[in-house]
Amino acid sequence: MPDRSIEELESLLLARIATAASEEELEAVRVEALGRKSALAQAGKEMGKLAPEERASRGKLINRVRQNLEQALEARQQTLAGSALRTRLDAEWLDLTLPAPGPRRGHLHPLTRIQRELEALFSSLGFAVLDGPEVEDEYHNFDALNIPRDHPARDMQDTFWLEGGQLARTHTSPVQVRGMERLGPPLRMIAPGRVFRNESVDASHEHTFYQLEGMMIDRDVSVAHLIYFMKTLLSAVFGRDVTVRLRPGFFPFVEPGFELDIQCLICGGPGCPVCKQSGWVEQMGCGMVHPNVLRLSGIDPEVWGGFAFGLGLTRLVMMRYGIDDIRHLQDGDLRFLEQF
Ligand SMILES: [Zn+2]
Repeated sequence: MPDRSIEELESLLLARIATAASEEELEAVRVEALGRKSALAQAGKEMGKLAPEERASRGKLINRVRQNLEQALEARQQTLAGSALRTRLDAEWLDLTLPAPGPRRGHLHPLTRIQRELEALFSSLGFAVLDGPEVEDEYHNFDALNIPRDHPARDMQDTFWLEGGQLARTHTSPVQVRGMERLGPPLRMIAPGRVFRNESVDASHEHTFYQLEGMMIDRDVSVAHLIYFMKTLLSAVFGRDVTVRLRPGFFPFVEPGFELDIQCLICGGPGCPVCKQSGWVEQMGCGMVHPNVLRLSGIDPEVWGGFAFGLGLTRLVMMRYGIDDIRHLQDGDLRFLEQF
């Protein structure tokens, strides 16, 4: 092979090294350029056939070409490795200045939501939102509410009695008693909260559920005030005007006492399965606070009077969202809860 051919081979190989696009391609060029079967190795082996003076200069040429190729391979190797690293870094790049995604946000239970809506509504009407103990004494849960000693509600069937004569409150009414005792008249208050009954649990009965009770004590409070506030309350809950009617109802702590119905929101009056063809749906108990209840809490019924009402928050939630089984509300099943 003449010297010129070796130089041509060198420039050819240098060009291929410079354009090798990957480390694999470069390795193939390396084998071809410097491997045992390469043209350069072959030229080295053939040196023995040359005259001594030619052999020295050919040896220098081959060494120089080999060194040039090795340097070029090394340089190209570095470049390719660097760009591979850059590609990887680009792919794995993370912008540390972005805000962190943070924990997944939950949402309020439908009971909590409706309770807060009603608290906001009554606060805007000048009512205080009061809280009271869930473990009550017999006086605040029954006696102070004019519930006679022989009333069936005191039976073991209905009440969870605790040691020492205390009980798990069966309604939120004791908070009204405590409100009257502590704040006195005039008084506007609501008491939302959890209550307990010794019930066997089925689709419409729970041992634990939520109520919201309220009262307004002032001079010259009449049934008209009661109707106004109840209509306001129910219209807010259902998001539209509702028609209400009062029927006589007995509750020991009010006189007169009423059952309050709303005109069926499904059929609007003519009758349907939801209202059992009556056109009306029972909503809550209410009435004018019994003089005995006022007197027991130290309020003079000759001067002060007022209305009281109690409604099942749990039932309201079921009506608003069309929930057909009360047990869903407390069993913690996410498939249910995530729908709200
Ligand atoms: Zn109906």
